[in-house]
Amino acid sequence: MDLHAQLQAAWDHVRTTYKPGTIELTGVIVTQIVGFIIPATFYMLIDVLFPRFSQRHKIQDNHRQPTRQQILHCVKVTMFNHVWVVALYTLLVYFAGLDYAFLNQDPIIPPWKTFVVDFIFGLLAREISFYYVHRVLHHPSIYAYIHKMHHKYTAPVAFAAEYAHPVEHLLANILPLTLPLYLKGAHFLSIIFFFVFELWEAAADHSGYDFLKLPPAELHDLHHEKFRVNYGTIGLMDWIHGTDVVG
Ligand SMILES: [Zn+2]
Ligand SMILES: [Zn+2]
Repeated sequence: MDLHAQLQAAWDHVRTTYKPGTIELTGVIVTQIVGFIIPATFYMLIDVLFPRFSQRHKIQDNHRQPTRQQILHCVKVTMFNHVWVVALYTLLVYFAGLDYAFLNQDPIIPPWKTFVVDFIFGLLAREISFYYVHRVLHHPSIYAYIHKMHHKYTAPVAFAAEYAHPVEHLLANILPLTLPLYLKGAHFLSIIFFFVFELWEAAADHSGYDFLKLPPAELHDLHHEKFRVNYGTIGLMDWIHGTDVVG
């Protein structure tokens, strides 16, 4: 049995065993754990487990790195952001009922080609929407009220990816990621795969390490250091608007 047939069999099992609401809520929680919390914890532990490797690959100097206390604070706020997102989704599922599916849970999973098209569509839609929301958040008249919080860590760590004011978390982190594929009617599994990749990428972008090359973590790290460069996620919109800076 090839991989696609195995995935179809697994999806058949899940769909016939659990209700749509349970599947979606579990998907949201597992995605956050697998895509963000586990990788972000790993990035943080590099410093403790492999100090020499960590020193070699840190993008910014040691004296700029946050203290243990600041990192703990960052983890707490980020975890709170995860909890309220899950609580909000639980509320939606509660009111809609477990038999209702917000996302496309078609019994037949799409071909690989559709997964790839969804992925590219999601990537571009997120890049465009995140870029403009991010630039608006940098507008001097509102920066201090919302986005300044995310810029607390000028030398970021992985958990700082979601260290944000709740308004920013909703407008810049959640909606650009979820809305385009939801509106496209992408399959639940396609959305889950995309989420896992994007959450990991956000953690890697903020990890403070230079060994990620998809795109280089240095780009967003430099945004935290210099503020007015590299607003986007993959570099495309920054290239178009001339806000891209490398090195
Ligand atoms: Zn950031
Ligand atoms: Zn910013």
